[in-house]
Amino acid sequence: MATATAHCTCSSRAAWRRPQRRVVLCLAQQQQQGVHVIGAGAAGLTAAYFAAVSGAQVTVLEKNAEAGKKILISGGTRCNVLPAEVDLQRDFVTESSRSALRAVFSSWSLDDCSFWLSDPHQIGIKLELERETGKLFPASNSAAEVRDRLVQACRQQGVEFVYGAGLQDLEQQPGGSWLLRLDDGSTMPAQQVILATGGLSFPKLGATGDGFRLLRRRGHSLHEPYPALTPLLGIHPGGEQLAGISLYSVELAAVAAADGGSSSGKKKKSRARSRVQRTAMLFTHRGFSGPAVLDLSHLSVRALDRQQPPPQILVQWTGKGAAEWEATLLEGGSLLVVNLLRKEGVPQRLAEALCGEAGVPLDRKLSELKKTERAGLLAALTKYVLPVTGSEGYAKAEVTGGGIPLNELSASSMESRILPGVFVCGELCDVFGRIGGFNFLWAWVSGRLAGLAAAEAAAAGGTQQPAAEHAA
Ligand SMILES: Cc1cc2nc3c(=O)[nH]c(=O)nc-3n(C[C@H](O)[C@H](O)[C@H](O)COP(=O)(O)OP(=O)(O)OC[C@H]3O[C@@H](n4cnc5c(N)ncnc54)[C@H](O)[C@@H]3O)c2cc1C
Repeated sequence: MATATAHCTCSSRAAWRRPQRRVVLCLAQQQQQGVHVIGAGAAGLTAAYFAAVSGAQVTVLEKNAEAGKKILISGGTRCNVLPAEVDLQRDFVTESSRSALRAVFSSWSLDDCSFWLSDPHQIGIKLELERETGKLFPASNSAAEVRDRLVQACRQQGVEFVYGAGLQDLEQQPGGSWLLRLDDGSTMPAQQVILATGGLSFPKLGATGDGFRLLRRRGHSLHEPYPALTPLLGIHPGGEQLAGISLYSVELAAVAAADGGSSSGKKKKSRARSRVQRTAMLFTHRGFSGPAVLDLSHLSVRALDRQQPPPQILVQWTGKGAAEWEATLLEGGSLLVVNLLRKEGVPQRLAEALCGEAGVPLDRKLSELKKTERAGLLAALTKYVLPVTGSEGYAKAEVTGGGIPLNELSASSMESRILPGVFVCGELCDVFGRIGGFNFLWAWVSGRLAGLAAAEAAAAGGTQQPAAEHAA
């Protein structure tokens, strides 16, 4: 560890008084510590907390100058810490085995996780349920409170933080311990290592895929990462600029063209409606976003990455389905069609754009609507094909899809099956959830499991560390 760049938060009075000796003291302490956590995001902080509560001496190495930068911007700076309920099949995406996913989640219930976050003797964040969305937020609506309380709880358990400390590599030592090689060329001995370095999404906040590269180099495989929960690019209806328009009850369906075998052995094209979401959506300057779009975005991203035809994303703009719309359009009367759309909750500019695409003049009254116009409008209102051309990628992706396969980790401890003494948690793993607090749920659950297991391993293996390479 380069004493010039690393900022240690040791609370020893002597250390505060003599900044030059401060890091020297900390390094001496670190040589006795049992668990090193790499990355101070949601998963790393949780792992550190539980390892420390279990009696381990814990050091967190974070390459940024502060902990939890992604927590700070999450949920529009309100931090949606948890969902109100969870259905693993519906809410999580993984290419790994579903039974491994279930096993990890069986280690801690949603209620217990929620209690941990809100209990004043543990993290102590008062939580409030947003009923319309089923999301839990801190009552303060402050993501900073979440980050600060996690860090504070860790410190109260004796966790040491070293900032500006980027891990570059891990080398196994004779006897099974590890040598941490840091970005500045220095090294640090470690017994149990928890990797919580995140994925590739929002790289400007610190997650730049270091953990993927490192674990691959050391023998792990990788389910090819891809941006998930990312806005999609495409032209707005009618070629209009509709940026800023939001809708709150859209229904999106991703419909993929899939090959199915027929009894005669010939391949038959069938269309699989893979997912349907009813929730909010918004138009951005370059395309489409909002929970409904983000939740399906990985399906387009993956197909486009693989140069396969992307699924068609079909939009129903309001809560009304085709049959209901047809009945409404047949009611007749002197109301202008475009005004009817507005009355039914379609924003004005979108209503005009949809009428334009369906070939319905803006001065057309309901009673004058022709059969072909009605059919065009019905399709535009309930099965509008979103013209997706790409995505905003990792720069705006809330999470990374793919990652370290769960079957290469023990589901009861998150320990690597390839690198004993190395535990992996959070976004590094091949798991992500939909919008709604599911990604933090994964970070808390997998982080806790890694922290508890690493502490147990440290206790079993003792805390005797090989000597540090750097001079104190
Ligand atoms: C804009 C946005 C909003 C979001 N909102 C929500 C929400 O409201 N609810 C929800 O559930 N999820 C949300 N998410 C997703 C959620 O933030 C992530 O799933 C979660 O933060 C992942 O936690 P993590 O600890 O695995 O990774 P990260 O939070 O990415 O933390 C990894 C940490 O490791 C550090 N690091 C990386 N490499 C190294 C290295 N080599 N050495 C040392 N340190 C390293 C990084 O600097 C970083 O601090 C949001 C994400 C984004 C981008």
